[in-house]
Amino acid sequence: MSDIEFGGGGRRLAPRHDTTPPGPDLGGALARGDIETFYQPVIELASRAVVGFEALARWRGGDAVEVSPDEFLSARQKPTLVAEIGRLMSQRALEQLHQWRSADQGPVGLYVSVNVSLSELESPQFLPELEARLSTTSVPVSALRLEIIEREAMRNPELVISQLNRLKAIGVVALLDDFGSGHSSLAWLSQLPVQGLKIDQAFVRGLPEDTASASIIRALMRMAFDLNLTVIAEGIETAAAADALAAFGCRYGQGYLYAPPLSAEAATAFLIASAKA
Ligand code: C2E
Ligand code: MG
Ligand code: MG
Repeated sequence: MSDIEFGGGGRRLAPRHDTTPPGPDLGGALARGDIETFYQPVIELASRAVVGFEALARWRGGDAVEVSPDEFLSARQKPTLVAEIGRLMSQRALEQLHQWRSADQGPVGLYVSVNVSLSELESPQFLPELEARLSTTSVPVSALRLEIIEREAMRNPELVISQLNRLKAIGVVALLDDFGSGHSSLAWLSQLPVQGLKIDQAFVRGLPEDTASASIIRALMRMAFDLNLTVIAEGIETAAAADALAAFGCRYGQGYLYAPPLSAEAATAFLIASAKA
């Protein structure tokens, strides 16, 4: 849209200047190697065993203040930089999986899920680049999962369905992230080639007392069961919430109750300790 607007009577208005402050300098952070990958364990609730990890981007600025990924990967960020983060995260996830697998650490089927933005899925380079990356590793394709936020997926439903179908054809598992807050319909969900849902932590936070959250989760669980989808709950902070989720039939979860996002070294130690428990 032009930044010069015309009033109703054809009167010319002064140019409008964008007053929003510039976003954080992600390009600089990438060039300096300041973007780290942390791993949050995904747990089987009944056994407390680690089944996978979610890779989360971390940026600690020069003054040691953490910049949130919600901020540095916001919709205002340049798509080329978001794509660079995506490449970095999937590359590191595959390298980390390779290390864990070759050291026999973790269960068979251990996976790492990586978050992808809609702008990455929309890029024609995304799929060929990911395929190329997967072809250079011994890690099975199914060990890499991709998470796309429900709200973002709904912004370009046809493209998302077609890209996820192509990903599924090469064996990549996709999950719908922050599920429940995007108001997607059952019809669209049944067309979407995802293998699982991650329940938005907004619903998990209130468990077990909040009856509205509990009924929403019960409904989501029924829907997921009918559509044969795996469910992972996010943001589990208390044993009571974990118990409530398990009672609703949710098998997997992640949250501070088990572990926060961990550095690669700490995640390895967690995996080893979990295997011994
Ligand atoms: P997400 O994918 O839903 O990730 C879960 C967020 O919840 C993470 O925030 C995690 O640190 C936080 N979390 C985990 N357990 C708990 C808990 O028990 N309680 C609470 N209150 N929070 C918990 P984080 O790391 O700040 O990431 C925020 C969002 O930024 C992510 O949400 C994801 O959408 C996005 N993001 C992070 N890394 C990447 C990335 O590499 N690529 C893309 N495209 N997006 C990313
Ligand atoms: Mg996620
Ligand atoms: Mg989420």
